[in-house]
Amino acid sequence: KSLSDTPPPRRPFSRVTEEDLTFFRTLLPDRTITDPDLLESSNVDWLKSVKGSSEVLLRPQTTEEVSQILRYCNSHNLAVNPQGGNTGLVGGSVPVYDEIVLSTSLMNNILHFDDVSGILTCQSGCILENLSLYLEERGHIMPLDLGAKGSCQIGGNVATNAGGLRLLRYGSLHGTVLGLEVVLADGRVLDCLSTLRKDNTGYDLKQLFIGSEGTLGVITAVSILCPQKPKSINVVFLGCETFEQLLKTFQLSRRMLGEILSAYEFLDSECLNLLKTHLKLHNPISDCPFYIVIETQGSDPNHDEEKLHNFLEQAMTSSLVVDGTVATEEGKIKALWSMRERITEALRHDGFTYKYDISLPVERIYQLVTDMRQHLGGRAKSVVGYGHVGDGNLHLNITSPAKNPTLLAAIEPFVYEWTAKFQGSISAEHGLGLKKRNYIHYSKSSQAVALMGTIKAMLDPNGILNPYKTLPDNLK
Ligand code: FAD
Repeated sequence: KSLSDTPPPRRPFSRVTEEDLTFFRTLLPDRTITDPDLLESSNVDWLKSVKGSSEVLLRPQTTEEVSQILRYCNSHNLAVNPQGGNTGLVGGSVPVYDEIVLSTSLMNNILHFDDVSGILTCQSGCILENLSLYLEERGHIMPLDLGAKGSCQIGGNVATNAGGLRLLRYGSLHGTVLGLEVVLADGRVLDCLSTLRKDNTGYDLKQLFIGSEGTLGVITAVSILCPQKPKSINVVFLGCETFEQLLKTFQLSRRMLGEILSAYEFLDSECLNLLKTHLKLHNPISDCPFYIVIETQGSDPNHDEEKLHNFLEQAMTSSLVVDGTVATEEGKIKALWSMRERITEALRHDGFTYKYDISLPVERIYQLVTDMRQHLGGRAKSVVGYGHVGDGNLHLNITSPAKNPTLLAAIEPFVYEWTAKFQGSISAEHGLGLKKRNYIHYSKSSQAVALMGTIKAMLDPNGILNPYKTLPDNLK
């Protein structure tokens, strides 16, 4: 039986009482939600694959309120599920049982922006797209971008160490996040909200919370380094006959586009079929087995255009790519990007989706899709591959008309064993959440997992923060 399908038994946390509700209502008048209809969307994840039964949603506006909530919950043995935009894909963002949902949605103030250094400081509930729009008006951009930008929040992005479409160029949040303010399980406020590029005074504690998926503390504010808005952006959509050619085109793009290359993404023809069928998106080029989305960002439109032209000429004349189209104007750029960004949405329409977010040596990433197709035979509805080639990150997705335990048992642990055999990671950027928690051993040594357990026990001795997530069931 697949471990990911089974939540662990409820731990002996207290149940919310009338007395608790009186406390919350006094602290958060009108922001303590108990109406089951209003709670529905906080109990179900974006994929509609996991569902909790929380009876209380708390919507603090300040760090002090978060602190008071956690201090109270910790001393009353009440479990808490921190929640941002609820776009997470591993079942980490919704309660498993009746955990209190602590939403950061109303913590959406920008606190400071320094347009000399490009450092933005804001509350954790700011929606990524709103931050991008704010920065663009000031000549900057966020260092990360992802398909869920209209709903996901910066706190959720940091809590999951989200990768996304610009990681190739601007690196991970472990580099761009300069400071965090975090409320610990017992209500203490940890102020690491530095805005310095360099600060080697002792351990870099904020790193612990980046990617901790709400299990070590609630992130209440973030300071982040934002690049200058590029003067010129180009997006190219190309078609290849084989994955090998797609990889050779990647090497060529690195060589010829150099510092202006900002994204190198791919999708296979099965993804394109889903975009056509479910979202009525049309292929802008002729049909091919593989498609590439390349983005360049630079400071000189003529220079970028010349580089791109030379690259495309070389890719075409050496027959690495068979067809392509270029966009320089905003509407067309958006349209080309949607071929990549809307795949997750198209999959949701296709059926119940089993999602795998795998890091592998880049030359291996498509072999897993091919092997999985062969392994499953006719048992799945669709088996598709897409992802961030530039980061060696494959999104392998398998759909079925409905939730299907037999299919799941055929996929797992096959997918994890395959990944471990090639020293890959079973979660490149989505985290472990509820669904992958028990598979951590495929990517981390037992010593590393044990140390994670020690850190968790030290920071959250009662285990109230996002229980049943990230760490395997045999650790608390
Ligand atoms: P939520 O889903 O609400 O929460 C995610 C986790 O973080 C949970 O464990 C939660 O408890 C915790 N959490 C949330 N806020 C806080 C906080 N303030 N303090 C502590 N813990 C907190 N991910 C990528 O990495 N790259 C992609 O390219 C990408 N593309 C996506 C495209 C689509 C269409 C969708 C639906 C999702 C995509 N994702 C991607 C996954 C998801 O959007 C990211 O994981 C995102 O960072 C989650 O942010 P959120 O605010 O929605 O967090």
